[in-house]
Amino acid sequence: MSRVELRGLSKSFGPVQAVRDVSLDISDHAFVTLLGPSGCGKTTTLNMTAGLEAVSSGDVLLDGVPITGWAPHERGMAMVFQNYALYPHMNVFDNIGFALKLQRRPRAEIERRVRATAEALELGALLERRISQLSGGQQQRVALARAMVKEPQVFLFDEPLSNLDAALRTRMRIEIKRLHQQLRTTSIFVTHDQEEAMILSDFIAVMRDGVVVQYGPADEVYRRPAHHYVATFIGKPRMGIVTGRLRTSGEVAEFTAAGLQMRWRDPAILVLGPGDREVLLGVRAEDARIVARVDQDEAGFDGAVELLEPLGSDTFVEVGRGEHRLTARVEPDKAPRLAEPVRLRLPWNRLHLFDAATEQRINA
Ligand code: ATP
Repeated sequence: MSRVELRGLSKSFGPVQAVRDVSLDISDHAFVTLLGPSGCGKTTTLNMTAGLEAVSSGDVLLDGVPITGWAPHERGMAMVFQNYALYPHMNVFDNIGFALKLQRRPRAEIERRVRATAEALELGALLERRISQLSGGQQQRVALARAMVKEPQVFLFDEPLSNLDAALRTRMRIEIKRLHQQLRTTSIFVTHDQEEAMILSDFIAVMRDGVVVQYGPADEVYRRPAHHYVATFIGKPRMGIVTGRLRTSGEVAEFTAAGLQMRWRDPAILVLGPGDREVLLGVRAEDARIVARVDQDEAGFDGAVELLEPLGSDTFVEVGRGEHRLTARVEPDKAPRLAEPVRLRLPWNRLHLFDAATEQRINA
């Protein structure tokens, strides 16, 4: 068992409150990502979990035991850093085995564990090499091996891939994923890259200004963002958003924005009750369909093609009308031409509605 609980963690550096009341329950075997832009408090949260940074308030628990005051090496956690933090004057073998040597493990055991870990990460042939003679990807693998050889209860990753070029980054992230599928070690991973978070994680905690805005299964955070910030931070291309007024009455929703009117029927509106409010209406590109006509009870958006983004596998079509812009994903051979007038169908069960003032999700 290796369940990590963060309870009301806060951290101030003088006047700067870096982390505010962060509570996360990370179950055994889970791969959890802390996702957010630079400076939002991800690293500080991870460092408090690792014991590298003292908490201002709150608690860290491992399998129900409070470990808040424990030294880093007592926690059974191994950290992989962005800058690898390898020992450049040592060879690969000694880097991987260093922690075991400190623990005064028998020579034969160190030999066996280092070799097994090196084999698992395809470093077997490089054990005698010095760190300075390795590529960036190989150094990253040594950093992973050094954490893995300790057989920790929990892995903590602080942006481990951000120093790698795009191609290598993609490869290494698959390696980390494969490793987690094999070892099933509880993992907490920090990144500002939403795509990386989606690919790797079981659960994502989206952070902003020291606060967790949403924590949930990765697919739920994507499909049902609880906040406008989460909706636009996760997903490529960015979720299309139109600001306007929403009038609801029973299942009928009427949305008006400058030069735009939509009316549709939607059981998810029932929770709102009758009313009239300023909202942000969001649609993901894969949910918007280019169609010849829109049925009476469906939301539609008429506009002209303003931009085509062909990716080979798909083409993203940006459709504009006045100040409003939405994107639709189409098959490349079905892409319209630039400036062509098109109609988008916006399926009611794929719409995201956020209160314009609080930016919180309002539809079910
Ligand atoms: P990045 O992705 O850039 O590392 P982050 O989300 O990990 O960002 P943190 O490094 O946790 O963010 O920093 C959160 C806030 O706390 C920032 O405003 C940062 O400037 C501040 N901060 C972090 N460490 C310290 C420190 N040792 N002293 C003072 N302020 C700090």
